[in-house]
Amino acid sequence: MPRIAAVFILAALAAAGCAEDLVVTAAPPSSIGATTTTTTSVVVVPAPPVPIVETKVIPEVISMGPAVGDAVALTFDADLTPSMQARLRSGTVESYANMAVVDVLRQMDAPATIFFTGLWMEEYPAETADIAADPRFELGTHSQTHRAFRNGCYGLGVVPREEMEDEIRRPVTALSLVAPTATRYFRFPGLCHDDESLAAAASVGVTVVDGDGSGDAGGPSVDAIVDQTLRRAHPGSIIVMHLNGGDKAPLTDEALPRIIDGLQARGLRPAKLSEVLAAR
Ligand SMILES: [Zn+2]
Repeated sequence: MPRIAAVFILAALAAAGCAEDLVVTAAPPSSIGATTTTTTSVVVVPAPPVPIVETKVIPEVISMGPAVGDAVALTFDADLTPSMQARLRSGTVESYANMAVVDVLRQMDAPATIFFTGLWMEEYPAETADIAADPRFELGTHSQTHRAFRNGCYGLGVVPREEMEDEIRRPVTALSLVAPTATRYFRFPGLCHDDESLAAAASVGVTVVDGDGSGDAGGPSVDAIVDQTLRRAHPGSIIVMHLNGGDKAPLTDEALPRIIDGLQARGLRPAKLSEVLAAR
């Protein structure tokens, strides 16, 4: 009869969190017939590292609504940075408030959603109040100073980690004073975010909204902006354009009438973002 060594492994895993935990492997005496082999060994191995409990909440990022129905969201970011303010002060740029965009939306009775930077609201309080008073518009925020929330974002300066929540919260607070019914929609500058910045957004309690670029920022021509926007548009689209005009997005108001007409020709209807997201 061959010799058989039966090994029973008794693994004792103590409660997590104790660095002294041991795994004990032992073979008790075993009897099979007349030939008995008894092996006893104790192997001490380090306990596995205590797992780090991930407590950060990474929120969902909305980039489109349900692809049903006919609604699309026209959204406009009101960018303003300290360097843009310097161009205003020096007279290099006359204005970063392209209110002709607002005029077109009103004339064509097109609802829209505006994402304000805090600096823009401070620079243009009358224009902010004018937009806020119009029920045609839904309001959200776009950071305080339009810095980037991660490296490598269109050459924008970067918000240090410890300033992220304040950079998101400040315009939310300012907007709530002007427009108590404003949404908590928030768009990251350049649509640039990572887990750290998304966690910061979650802690402030905003809803992160991306979208499809229209190409109006630096777009080479009205034709190019209109073509790019209409080519991408579909039910549920969130179209990203700009309200700041100036040297950053000077053609938005010229492109907008053709965009709205083109959407309607495709059976699409501009609607507030909340309506687009609620489509069934
Ligand atoms: Zn922006």
